[in-house]
Amino acid sequence: MAEKPLISVEEAEKVIASLPLKVNTETVPLLAAQNRFLSRDIAAAFPMPEFDKSAMDGYAYISEDRSPAYQVSETIAAGTPPRFAVSPGHCAKIMTGAMLPAGADRVVRRECTSEKNGFMKITAEDKNRNIRWQGEDLQAGQLVLARGIRLQAAQIALLASLGLAEVPTARPPRVGIITTGSELAEPGTPLDPGRIYNSNYYSLAAQVNALGGEALAMGRVADNAAATVDAIASCLDRCDALILSGGVSAGDFDYVPAAIEQAGITLHFEKIAVQPGMPTVFGSQEEKIVFGLPGNPVSTFVIFEIFIKPLLLRWMGHFYQPLVLPAELTETYNRSHGGRTAFIPVRYQDGQAAMLSYHGSAHLHALSLANALLRVPAGQLSIPAGSTVDVRYL
Ligand code: AMP
Ligand code: MG
Repeated sequence: MAEKPLISVEEAEKVIASLPLKVNTETVPLLAAQNRFLSRDIAAAFPMPEFDKSAMDGYAYISEDRSPAYQVSETIAAGTPPRFAVSPGHCAKIMTGAMLPAGADRVVRRECTSEKNGFMKITAEDKNRNIRWQGEDLQAGQLVLARGIRLQAAQIALLASLGLAEVPTARPPRVGIITTGSELAEPGTPLDPGRIYNSNYYSLAAQVNALGGEALAMGRVADNAAATVDAIASCLDRCDALILSGGVSAGDFDYVPAAIEQAGITLHFEKIAVQPGMPTVFGSQEEKIVFGLPGNPVSTFVIFEIFIKPLLLRWMGHFYQPLVLPAELTETYNRSHGGRTAFIPVRYQDGQAAMLSYHGSAHLHALSLANALLRVPAGQLSIPAGSTVDVRYL
């Protein structure tokens, strides 16, 4: 069997980043847009605040007017426009958020006043003007949210304040997940000798959903070449991207790369100089994308994080830049082979990266304690304790 060409992490990232992707869009009700990405720039249709308004409960008056007392001409509640203009010697009692009456240019807080028999006296200096002027937060026509931003509570609130009931978003890519392996059993069922529980479906689905993608369970296939080809061919129709776990290595029952090709997908690479996850395969066919990931659970997780996450986010119009933090390594890191770029689960806190007891790509418990990945460049065998390293926050 011919040796598969090995490409670097950076080359693999480039191949993935250069694949053209079309963002599909979908207009959805505001709350259905939560965690989605905006697909169009949004401009304010009107100014914010919408009108000059009081920022306090108090009395609106003319700032130049130093009358000893001011006759209260009306009480203005939020939501009801004023009836009178304010003239010298007069004021209007006004509530927070109520429209400022014509003539008034200042509000004195209620706590700095006393009111008796329809007259208000200022009893203490109020340094603030207590007015929110029309348009001081936003001008009409101003760009408020750029496409590609993720819509969370604050952005949804802003869109609601601008009167939008629906919002144009990127349609989340439908990501089918197939797990391969005759040893797999589903959580919740008994475990026969020699079998293990399928964790990769759950980690991949959780990773897809966390990004705002739509994970689709496409089931398990045994290690069987024909069944794998059939599964890929039938699932491709129902999804935009397909992720397979397991069956990509050099074992007697590893059928996935050949099956992907037989299903009509062009493979772009079949081996990355990365640890864990070297036998990762990536292919595409027209608008469909297929990844085959090694079955070891930490490999699956790491490969998704490094290579698939940026692609799925780009498919939603979002340019993802991982959060890479400088950290002081608390212990010396050593490895026996240095040819590949390694991603090692670590615990980052207060500027320090602590190594975890990590036995390799099957060690899910170590991953569950990690919140970052230490990137060890290809060629480097050891990093002394106390070195400043880059960690990629998860
Ligand atoms: P493979 O990539 O198929 O050679 O599998 C490598 C290792 O990962 C083997 O120990 C498998 O039992 C394990 N493995 C494969 N698929 C899964 C899965 N879905 N969940 C958990 N472990 C898996
Ligand atoms: Mg297998």
